Amino acid sequence: MEVSNNCSTKTFHIINENKCLKCQTFECENVCFRGIYKVINKDLAPKCVIAKEREPFCVKCHLCTTACKQKAIEIL
Ligand code: SF4
Ligand code: SF4
Repeated sequence: MEVSNNCSTKTFHIINENKCLKCQTFECENVCFRGIYKVINKDLAPKCVIAKEREPFCVKCHLCTTACKQKAIEIL
């Protein structure tokens, strides 16, 4: 995993994991109809993880970037 400026850089989704730590609603996982996000460790320290095998199915609809209240997601 590449790490810079506290962001994990995936192929073309960038998640600011520091913002995920404050998340309680996990909109990314709920809204993405392509199953690209999985939030782990929800009870202690939530972290959004990209399902790498699913990432190529992203249609860049931006439902996720719109829904994430923390504005933790960037799609390049
Ligand atoms: S990406 Fe947004 S919605 Fe998903 S866990 Fe992180 S802060 Fe929450
Ligand atoms: S842009 Fe759309 S398809 Fe891509 S990750 Fe976000 S919600 Fe899923």
